[in-house]
Amino acid sequence: MFFFFVGGVDQQVSRVLKYGVSRCINCGSMADLVEYDKVVKAFFIPVWKRHAKEPALYCNNCNFLFPETMSLPPPPPPPASEVSDTLRCRFCDRLVEPEFRFCPFCGSSL
Ligand SMILES: [Zn+2]
Ligand SMILES: [Zn+2]
Repeated sequence: MFFFFVGGVDQQVSRVLKYGVSRCINCGSMADLVEYDKVVKAFFIPVWKRHAKEPALYCNNCNFLFPETMSLPPPPPPPASEVSDTLRCRFCDRLVEPEFRFCPFCGSSL
């Protein structure tokens, strides 16, 4: 008689402590500081759950959980010229004021 055990330890994010505190060591996306539970599953049913003592970093992009000690420094802030209150003309690709209706460089409507 064969017996197959289908299970394992899962790590489930229970609470996000802080968004975008670091970068994923796997894919480089923003990672959140989270509290998580260790869940032991048997036949895909959680049978045992334990709250992890230390918060960890979690990447939403690739679903990767890793310890805070392995984190990369957060990405540098975007350059001042690229802030959201500027707009780029889609015809000549120059920066224009967002309240402008027409591009001052090439005259195209924005
Ligand atoms: Zn990632
Ligand atoms: Zn233009």
